[in-house]
Parts: sequence; C-alpha cells; structure tokens
Amino acid sequence: MDCPLCRAEGEQLLEADDRLRVIEVLEPRLPGYRRIIWQQHRRELTELNEAERIHWFTKVAQQEDALRALWACDKINHASFGNVVPHLHWHVMPRWRTDPWWPSPVWGSKQPSTRMAVTQSAQGQFLLGPNEKSSNPAPSMSLQIDEWLSLKEACAAIRQKVFVEEQNVAAEEEWDELDWACRHLLIANTDEPMATGRLLSLGDGRARIGRMAVLREFRGHGLGRMVLQGLIAEARRLGFSEIVLHAQTHALGFYARSGFAAQGPEFDECRIPHREMVLRLETG
Ligand SMILES: [Zn+2]
Repeated sequence: MDCPLCRAEGEQLLEADDRLRVIEVLEPRLPGYRRIIWQQHRRELTELNEAERIHWFTKVAQQEDALRALWACDKINHASFGNVVPHLHWHVMPRWRTDPWWPSPVWGSKQPSTRMAVTQSAQGQFLLGPNEKSSNPAPSMSLQIDEWLSLKEACAAIRQKVFVEEQNVAAEEEWDELDWACRHLLIANTDEPMATGRLLSLGDGRARIGRMAVLREFRGHGLGRMVLQGLIAEARRLGFSEIVLHAQTHALGFYARSGFAAQGPEFDECRIPHREMVLRLETG
C-alpha cells in the first residue's frame, strides 16, 4: 500500500531506531511539537508486545524530558488520535500559559482578546479609554492584546523598524518561534501600527515582558507606559506571580516607575547593555 508515513517525506527527523522514529512537526503555530511514529504497521498500542510497549513509553517520556530541557514551558501535552494510516503515533507538545489556547487543548477554544480605545489629549498625551469630549466618537486608535496570528503583521512592522533597522539587532536574534507562544499587545491607529510588546510564560508562574517598541514618531507621549501597563494587566489576568524583563540600562527609570526593581549585574544582549528587572504580583 502507498503509505505516507512509510515514505517519511517532508519530515524533520530527530532520531530513529529500527522500531520507532521521532520527528519535529513543521508547524510554526506549535513551537516544539514532536511526533513519535512506530516504523512498522501497528494500528493500536495493544498490537505491541510488552517489550515494544516499554520501548515506546520510554521514548515518549524521553521526549517530554527533552522538550522541558529546551523550553521553559508550563505543561507538556500528549495525545494519540485515531489513525488513518496504520502507524501508531504519539503527539508531544510544549504548552505555555501565554499560548493561544491555554488552558484549553490546542483544538479547543482560544484565549479572549482585549480591545480598548486610545485617545489623545489636547497636550498630545495618549490616554486609555474613550474621550467623551471628542466630536468623533468612533475610536480609530486602539490597544489590542491577542495571539501572534492576529497581530503579527503590525507588530512585526514595528519591531523591524525599531530593533532591526534603528538598533541594528540581527534579524535572526529578533525573530524566534516563541512569538507563537506569546500574548502580544499592539497599539495602532486604524491600520497604522504605533507600539507593541509581548508577554511570554517562563513556567512556574513567571512571565517575561519583551520586544517592547514604540515607533520613533510616536515617542514621548505615554505609549511605552501604556504598553507596559497593558502587559502587566494581561499577566495578572493569566495569574502570574512574577514578571521579569531585560531592560536596556538607559530605561531602568522607566520600568522602576511601574514597580520593577533591578537585580543582578549589567549584561550584554544584542550588543546593548541590559539589566534584569523584576515585578512581583499579588496573587490569590
Ligand atoms: Zn506505513
């Protein structure tokens, strides 16, 4: 029979022996997703003998350990579905509290998205919430918090300009697969992006705020603080107990005004001096 799993085409093979193989599933929306596949035709676990079952589950557990060593995730999901082709296979994937589906399974409902109006005062300061005195009540400026799939074009356009072009961060350092595991914040005026940032779970109730950027032409009017406060609120909604971030040293005062405290020595990141800062959140 012509079997796609026997052909093993288009796979990123991680390891194999004569009984099974482990592949990385090339699905960007699910960073770290792996699949363990029995090489011979076996439809169900019960068709494996006892030694084969031990070999199988030892390998499943090894993949869980390997993913935990690679990713600071909150949970490893396992699943085995009905097979169209007669190859027993097992899905193993890291999950983050900030991923699009948490706490549901990846075929379940997604996290709620947030959208709030942003207005500008007569003095030019950006403010959260509708402006009741405005003659045009339809808000064109807004703050959104959502998954990467929804906001990636606008957020990527800001980060490309600020980090890659203005600060000369290497493109391969700027773009990582973890964007798919993050909550993203975007402030935009209709289709014109203005400011962004992201929140990533590090496991154990800790989250990292990163990739905060305001386009040059919109700086100095409160947008950076609005991004930071929005991501802190999202971290509270998700129940995190602590937020850490890597602050460029010239911006320590900006984060300190929102309650972050510097800890540890100065270090270099993307050839820019940074310090780690931490904010503990009240829980319970
Ligand atoms: Zn086959």
